[in-house]
Amino acid sequence: MTRVLIAKGKKKMNPLDNSSLNFQYILENYKEICYNVENAKAKYAKSSADVQIMAVTKTVEPQKINFAISQGIRLLGENRVQEFMSKKDQYDKSAQVHFIGHLQTNKVKYIINDVSLIQSVDSLKLAGEINRLALKNNKVMDVLVEVNVGDEISKSGVAFDECVKLVEGISELENVHVRGLMAIPPIGCGEDVFEKMHELYLKLGEMSIDSVDMDILSMGMSGDYELAIKHGSNLVRIGTKLFGARKYFGG
Ligand SMILES: *Cc1c(COP(=O)(O)O)cnc(C)c1O
Repeated sequence: MTRVLIAKGKKKMNPLDNSSLNFQYILENYKEICYNVENAKAKYAKSSADVQIMAVTKTVEPQKINFAISQGIRLLGENRVQEFMSKKDQYDKSAQVHFIGHLQTNKVKYIINDVSLIQSVDSLKLAGEINRLALKNNKVMDVLVEVNVGDEISKSGVAFDECVKLVEGISELENVHVRGLMAIPPIGCGEDVFEKMHELYLKLGEMSIDSVDMDILSMGMSGDYELAIKHGSNLVRIGTKLFGARKYFGG
């Protein structure tokens, strides 16, 4: 499936036209997010660990991304292999990049050397391909297992009840290192869904599976990051609240 990058009838944006970039808006947003994250941490104190703020970059011009990095963002989240490949050379290298979008097995080769972690691993087949290419490139790839916590038919992610089995399966792969879990709780779902994810994360940690670490729970987006922190998230993925509304639907 291909998506058209420029919405029909819209004027093509010139990425070099700085007047359209509105850096001040991004700075205000970033300050507000930092403030809210600190507040949520202080209020709920689920863990003393830090909460990482990821800037989700789909459809965002590299100049805006680099501005966010200059203000303190240290982690970027990429959804689409093709878009990432066309933009990555322009990114300031002081931020790390995680892949967070649905990843087809045949596309792993394009990102394996350009991301520090893949958050969207939801099958042993995909993990196997990551393992093969990591070995070939002489590295160990960090991954999160994406859980379809709402059991939504349209969503990617391993079924909630299959997650432990998948983590155990991936733990056998020598060049893939499970670092935690990622989830996209359905919009408007109850807090119990967030807590269910947190409990699974804790349970897997307590299982102490060989060569598996549970130190990242990636949960929470623009609309629910404070709630996610309340339920143990230590990595929130923010797009809209940081950069503004996207010009086309991004999944
Ligand atoms: C787009 C996206 C986000 C950010 O969503 P916003 O609501 O714009 O903050 C986070 N995680 C994933 C996996 C995404 O695709």
